[in-house]
Amino acid sequence: MTTIKTTCPVCGTVELGVHNVLLEVPEGTEQGVYSFVCPSCFELRARAAGRRIVLLLQAAGVEPNAHPGHPITESEIVAFAAAIRSEPAPTRRL
Ligand SMILES: [Zn+2]
Repeated sequence: MTTIKTTCPVCGTVELGVHNVLLEVPEGTEQGVYSFVCPSCFELRARAAGRRIVLLLQAAGVEPNAHPGHPITESEIVAFAAAIRSEPAPTRRL
């Protein structure tokens, strides 16, 4: 099972399943933002995804969400966080 290692500013290094990472890459660009709910403190974290990070996430199996020209919206983040919170065992894929 592929896991993605990233860092939470509070918890340090955390591991995420591919489906627990939301990658937003605006159309026509090669970089964007990825967000996740930390499996340790359950806070929503968003981090810049430079070109290298985008490629690494895609190689791991994360499908980028391409929005024509606009960055991720607050409502999308809220929906993602709600989806993660409704997961009975958020760390079962790790
Ligand atoms: Zn954390």
